[in-house]
Amino acid sequence: MLDVAIIGCGVVGAAAAYELSHYPLHVAVLEAENDVADGTTKANSAILHAGYDPEPGTQMARLNVQGVALAKEICARLDVPYRQCGSLVLALSQAELPHLKKLYANGVANGVPGIRLLTAEETLAMEPQLAPTVAGALFAPSAAIVSPWEFALAMAEVAVRNGVELYRSTPVTNIEKIDGGWQLTTPNGSFAARYVVNAAGLNAQAIHEMAAPHTFTLEPTRGEYYLLDKSEGNRVNHVIFQCPNENGKGVLVTPTVHGNLLVGPNAQPVAGDDTACTADGLAFVAATARRSVPGIRFGESIRNFAGVRANVDTGDFVIGETDGAPGFIDLAGMKSPGLSSAPAVAKEVTKILAAHNDLPESKTDYKDGRTRVRFKELPPEQKAELIAKNPAYGRVICRCETITEGEILDALQSEIPAVSIDGVKRRCNAGMGRCQGGFCGPRVLELISKTRGIDPLDVLQDKAGTNVLLCETKTGRGCNHG
Ligand SMILES: Cc1cc2nc3c(=O)[nH]c(=O)nc-3n(C[C@H](O)[C@H](O)[C@H](O)COP(=O)(O)OP(=O)(O)OC[C@H]3O[C@@H](n4cnc5c(N)ncnc54)[C@H](O)[C@@H]3O)c2cc1C
Repeated sequence: MLDVAIIGCGVVGAAAAYELSHYPLHVAVLEAENDVADGTTKANSAILHAGYDPEPGTQMARLNVQGVALAKEICARLDVPYRQCGSLVLALSQAELPHLKKLYANGVANGVPGIRLLTAEETLAMEPQLAPTVAGALFAPSAAIVSPWEFALAMAEVAVRNGVELYRSTPVTNIEKIDGGWQLTTPNGSFAARYVVNAAGLNAQAIHEMAAPHTFTLEPTRGEYYLLDKSEGNRVNHVIFQCPNENGKGVLVTPTVHGNLLVGPNAQPVAGDDTACTADGLAFVAATARRSVPGIRFGESIRNFAGVRANVDTGDFVIGETDGAPGFIDLAGMKSPGLSSAPAVAKEVTKILAAHNDLPESKTDYKDGRTRVRFKELPPEQKAELIAKNPAYGRVICRCETITEGEILDALQSEIPAVSIDGVKRRCNAGMGRCQGGFCGPRVLELISKTRGIDPLDVLQDKAGTNVLLCETKTGRGCNHG
């Protein structure tokens, strides 16, 4: 029997796995998709929020502030792209200034370090591209931008290195109480575990209700984005928020750790994980963003995408052991700031195990740390050394992002190897540039096929069923695929 089964490997499940892997426990992560963090964690604003938004006294307030500090350390340790650029919440009129004071008071109560209110002049001096109507701002220097996907991957990789078992393409379809724990059913067999951690994101309500009576309702709310080319990447230097409203933190404009500009999201209630982008939604995002940064050139957009928030009717994260279901731990309702809070949320799991006297002493031989080659960032002599050792680093495959064959092979042979073209993209950025994989996609497909020893027809763009190439013989229409 497993000690702990974690359902879902988004940033919350990955953080729980990383935290638990520090202890001599038998832990498995069961993930429905063929890769880690293929849900909300891959499509959000990528901000480690400072923590002035949540109401003081909530789980969100406490875990956000703790989580951001932990995330900073983890990103440094695990070589995850992270930049503490700070954030500004703008008052776009005199009428909005009281709102900034309320956020400031929240921030002080929540223990957010270094926040201060700025005058209009101070704000415009920091960000000259802002609308001249700006009346003031709340500055939070601890806010940061991150690669959310790599953050989750890095924690999952180190967890796996330290003995956590990761089962991909393994959706949990049923949960039953058994003597001393729980039995989880999946298409890949059953798993018995003393503790179950429900980190299933938008599916967390359904998973909860497999084990216990209804206690919370998720209210999926979609947010749509523009990702702009690097030519717009320096438009602003901080994360630029508007005053939040009943729909959340509003439309923001932010640099990304990869050097692009990200603009969004709106807030649209949807059924389930509907990540479609809509003309109306994007028009709203562009018009609203221009209120804070009028000069954004949306013609430089290289991609639109959407993510779905696991908003919840309780108004706060749902964290803890469920009444009447001993050993069943919810990490649910992980709406924003769920990314920022994830490492602190993970520590709640170890606290629960400790309260049951089920947390052993931590391992003394833990294998922490992680690095990956980012060829284009290396000085010339290190590039030459690397190519001499492995000529694959001398062949540039993704011309937009200058990603080499060596880095793509690293992605395909890592601790949690990529199994799709998008899996490669997320691991090493090949295909992330302005052509969005138009040039390098076929070469990446070939490398996946060779490295994994699979037919090119079986190479996926992303999730199961997204095969890139079609052969008519397979569909009974008689082409001559050889
Ligand atoms: C538009 C938007 C903007 C946001 N911006 C920010 C931000 O800037 N900062 C911030 O802190 N937070 C932000 N958030 C929130 C943040 O993205 C989430 O809190 C976080 O990603 C949630 O992670 P998770 O692991 O709970 O969920 P997910 O990433 O969705 O992971 C859940 C995983 O569970 C798996 N799963 C589901 N069902 C099953 C099953 N039956 N069996 C096995 N596995 C299953 C899924 O495949 C998925 O991989 C934003 C969210 C959205 C949508």
